[in-house]
Amino acid sequence: MEDLKKIIRDIPDFPKKGIIFKDITTLLADPKSFNRMIDLIAHRYIGAKIDQIVGVEARGFLLGAALAYKLGTGITLVRKPGKLPYKTLQKTYQLEYGADTLEIHQDAFKPGDRVVVADDLLATGGTMAAVVELIQELGAEVVECAFMAELEFLEGRKRLPQEKVFSLLKF
Ligand code: IMP
Repeated sequence: MEDLKKIIRDIPDFPKKGIIFKDITTLLADPKSFNRMIDLIAHRYIGAKIDQIVGVEARGFLLGAALAYKLGTGITLVRKPGKLPYKTLQKTYQLEYGADTLEIHQDAFKPGDRVVVADDLLATGGTMAAVVELIQELGAEVVECAFMAELEFLEGRKRLPQEKVFSLLKF
């Protein structure tokens, strides 16, 4: 796993001064690394009777679409406000400074659908906690939240059902 971790680069002071941003675009752009990352994550869910993958805007769409293709499921999008064309359910959540809102189509799931949620990185967990609430309010079951990477020192897991969090690369 160290070779995959090494290919992710640190960008100091992005998007704000004092933040060291994990830039996963280098991993996505490298054919062997991207392939391996998807295979390792998808492997967990083979045979787990997953009905749907949920991808979180925007980098979660990349992991989500590749997982859905591998598992033979569809993918449902969680997007920023005003992007989804049909009726939506919204959730507003707190960020370090201010708030953000995410939306999902109201008819995204059948009752009891088993879903895996995909995003690129787990930081404070605020984003994923809001996504889990959206999915549960629509009557689906979150089997696991899957991330390419996790910033462990931010303890985002504590805001999520612990046994339902998987991250491939831990920093
Ligand atoms: P959280 O809500 O604090 O867990 O932040 C997670 C969200 O912010 C994810 O959707 C990530 O795409 C994004 N994010 C936060 N920090 C980073 C980073 O260092 N690299 C890439 N994405 C990040």
